[in-house]
Amino acid sequence: MPELPDLEVLKEILSRRVVGREIAAARALRPGTLKTVAPPLDALVGQRFTAIARRGKLLIFTLRSDLHLVVHLKVAGRFVACRSDTRPTKATGLVLRFVDGQDLRLVENGPVKLAAVYVARAPHEVPAIEEAGVEPLSPAFSVDRLAEMASGRRRQAKKLLTDQDAIAGIGTAYADEILFAARISPIRFVNTLQDDEVARLHAAIGETLAQAVETVRARTQDRLVEEEIRDFMKVYKREGEPCFTCGTRIAEIRYAETRTYYCPTCQTKGEEVRDRRAWLTC
Ligand SMILES: [Zn+2]
Repeated sequence: MPELPDLEVLKEILSRRVVGREIAAARALRPGTLKTVAPPLDALVGQRFTAIARRGKLLIFTLRSDLHLVVHLKVAGRFVACRSDTRPTKATGLVLRFVDGQDLRLVENGPVKLAAVYVARAPHEVPAIEEAGVEPLSPAFSVDRLAEMASGRRRQAKKLLTDQDAIAGIGTAYADEILFAARISPIRFVNTLQDDEVARLHAAIGETLAQAVETVRARTQDRLVEEEIRDFMKVYKREGEPCFTCGTRIAEIRYAETRTYYCPTCQTKGEEVRDRRAWLTC
């Protein structure tokens, strides 16, 4: 699932590729992908994208001040570029055709097809944007703001980091990386964090995400990738492999569909989280 660094880089790549090109046709091929009825998708025809922005995990393609295409890739949504005469597949959910004979398509390979597309007069008409929390790489995300969030409600650190209405753009992979960098357990209740721990968590959020944007940008270059680049990560999907800091084997917590990776020495004082019901407490 693409997260803030992946989407930030995708935004840059798409900006270079599609801004300024005239749209000849726009079609939603899968029922359910297009979440809005007005303005219609046809409102894009004859228009050009003027800018692409990211808010949380959503991309906002602006055509005019009162016309935006908003895309939430969710789990498996990806953009591909191809010639317009390429036959769409069952994976194709949205086709944007440009007058130069090229398409930008939204595809979802695999059984999970949750990508959502909105045509809106203003981005905040899209609920996920209206409700989105603070951007973690913006100046608005201060230590005080994080301390306020942490003290507000009894919940676990990973739950806070992945709550899009609190902090926008972090998913399960980067939450694990951030908590490893901060040396904080993923199931730690945030209302018990000391001031120095909140400061460490705040620094880890900014540093982990900013470094990941750089790494993903350097690795992706100008390609539209089908898989997120995650092989530089320190705990994510490294269960059983040695921690880069202390050599302890990275452990995994499985709960429902969620996987959490952490170092039992660096993050949980040598304890392995054996009780999966730990995840049920908030
Ligand atoms: Zn370790």
